Amino acid sequence: MNDKTKIVGKDALGRPVKDLSSISWWGIDRKQIDWYPKMDYDKCAHCGICFISCGRRVFDWDKKEDKPLVAYPYNCMVACQTCANLCPCGAIEFPETDSIKKLLNKAKVIKKAFEILEPIQEEEKIDEDSTQIEPEV
Ligand code: SF4
Ligand code: SF4
Repeated sequence: MNDKTKIVGKDALGRPVKDLSSISWWGIDRKQIDWYPKMDYDKCAHCGICFISCGRRVFDWDKKEDKPLVAYPYNCMVACQTCANLCPCGAIEFPETDSIKKLLNKAKVIKKAFEILEPIQEEEKIDEDSTQIEPEV
């Protein structure tokens, strides 16, 4: 992502949110991952909670129809379900989390996460060791 990345809108606090769709997820093209909210408008009460609670500006608000629209699906954070959890009407659905577990394996996410974490933990251990005071005998 560079500074010229398109701004898709603002979050609830008025901060600009960029188009995140070109950022890969652990090496997998984000647009190949079918993870974003699917709306059931028959259940929707038009309360706006999903719209204001998403910090990634996945939703636009259709003023004419007074309802949320999934305008930037690939801005959705893979595995997040916050909007579905907050929706008082159960009007938002996501795929089964099994699909995410398969992706975790495919992308070797746990291995990659350990590779990132290990040097940090090593550094912290060195810092900790160097600040330890020898007990008096
Ligand atoms: S939170 Fe649920 S009920 Fe409220 S606008 Fe969003 S989808 Fe509709
Ligand atoms: S799951 Fe999370 S990131 Fe995705 S639309 Fe809902 S609140 Fe936004």
